[in-house]
Amino acid sequence: MAEKFKVRMRELDPSERVNSFEEVALGYTKEEAIAEAKRCLQCKHKPCVSGCPVGIDIPGFIKALREDDIEKSTRILKDANNLPAICGRVCPQEKQCELACVVGKIPGSEPVAIGRLERFVADQNISLETAVKPSVNKRVAVIGAGPAGLTAAADLAKEGFSVTVFEAFHTAGGVLVYGIPEFRLPKEIVAKEVEFVKSLGVEFRFNQIIGRTIPFEEIKNEYDAVFIGIGAGAPRFMGIPGSNHNNIFSSSEYLTRTNLMKAYLFPLYDTPVKIKDRVAVIGAGNVTMDAARTVKRLGAKEVHVVYRRSEEEMPARIEEYHHAVEEGIIFHWLTLPVEYIGDINNNVTGMKCVKMTLGEPDDSGRRRPIQIEGSEFVMEVDMVIEAIGQTPNAILKAGFPAVRLNKWGSIDADEASGRVDEGIYAGGDIVTGSATVIEAMGAGKRSARAIKSYLLRKG
Ligand code: FAD
Ligand code: SF4
Ligand code: SF4
Repeated sequence: MAEKFKVRMRELDPSERVNSFEEVALGYTKEEAIAEAKRCLQCKHKPCVSGCPVGIDIPGFIKALREDDIEKSTRILKDANNLPAICGRVCPQEKQCELACVVGKIPGSEPVAIGRLERFVADQNISLETAVKPSVNKRVAVIGAGPAGLTAAADLAKEGFSVTVFEAFHTAGGVLVYGIPEFRLPKEIVAKEVEFVKSLGVEFRFNQIIGRTIPFEEIKNEYDAVFIGIGAGAPRFMGIPGSNHNNIFSSSEYLTRTNLMKAYLFPLYDTPVKIKDRVAVIGAGNVTMDAARTVKRLGAKEVHVVYRRSEEEMPARIEEYHHAVEEGIIFHWLTLPVEYIGDINNNVTGMKCVKMTLGEPDDSGRRRPIQIEGSEFVMEVDMVIEAIGQTPNAILKAGFPAVRLNKWGSIDADEASGRVDEGIYAGGDIVTGSATVIEAMGAGKRSARAIKSYLLRKG
């Protein structure tokens, strides 16, 4: 009979971590990892594997770990997942592999901590000779170095294709470097996994905005196939009256300045960022939690998360919400800002809000928020961060004229293969809208398989 509960993972104390960008979760020791690995029942039908979009042999890597064969465990992980240290940290495991785990179905039991075990094995940094097949003399361009692009690039390189990644920024990782903060995903970890992709022979060309610095047509003509993984990096805005007051930001801008441009290390890095006393962050997803916890660490005295639905509908990972609560973030449920108020200098001083109630489920399956008449009130704030989601960048429409878009401005691609047109494939957030790291990686993997069979068929 397995132990009922996961082995706890040590964390930095909330009082210590609110002033620091050090990683909050500290990982397992070897003894802890082996004790957790022993909770796995080694199910023959492996239901957990079908919950993993990249199809890791989960019982296989756990078995090798509990036999203390870290090299074998690493090999099994890396066979399916090019970025295991990243996934072990940020995958929504509770909605993926762990949701399907048999142990978690036993009343009163928690599933095996698959993500934490994956993180432990990946963090042992065992370097392996990865088999790369002989060159097949075909060139593939990958546009965007986020999780989708990195996965497609690595899988194609392993198959002997010559792969070049074009990335708009000066560094690889996409949201992993410009969105998710250091205290959840240290950039050193991302850099190590990108190094692994490079070690497979993938070439990176940074500071290249395809559709601007290089026309898409040029790439299409020069390469045998193209994978587009450019994400959904443009922020959505509330668009309410008063939005042009000073000190109202999008989470995309605020997090990019802090993470990618290292404002959290100011003045070591010359990136200024606004920090005020009483900050409202609007939304309730992972991005909201990241923005709220970031501005708190930077020195805001009070941080208020304002969400129009209830705690039950909150899309953020429950673990991240708990961390935010422990760090003193204040939550206002069923509350919708309807107008920003400012002073004579045009600085925001407050938000006019209304209280909400929940009606019938809407298209997203969540109960629709409805305004309560006469419930208006003003919340005093001196800074606002809007974190209500991202959409594909408008540059896409102009920069990729050959690519079909759907009504949401995303690329219209075949779900199974990512095929858009002959030799053109796409995957990740640019197809699905903002989703998750592992879903983007799953899409990159499926397209890599489709590109391989397309190019081998074409000869
Ligand atoms: P991206 O990661 O967006 O990468 C796209 C890349 O393409 C970028 O590097 C971009 O610079 C580049 N690019 C764009 N246009 C061009 C162009 N024209 N030419 C060349 N390059 C271009 N998911 C989770 O699973 N867990 C989490 O905890 C989590 N937290 C998140 C926190 C934040 C703040 C955000 C914003 C997202 C979070 N997500 C999380 C979502 C997740 O990060 C994304 O779903 C995932 O990164 C999508 O991967 P992608 O490769 O499709 O796109
Ligand atoms: Fe689970 Fe994500 Fe790891 Fe797959 S990659 S096993 S879904 S934590
Ligand atoms: Fe182990 Fe759970 Fe997978 Fe069964 S379902 S093999 S217990 S991780």
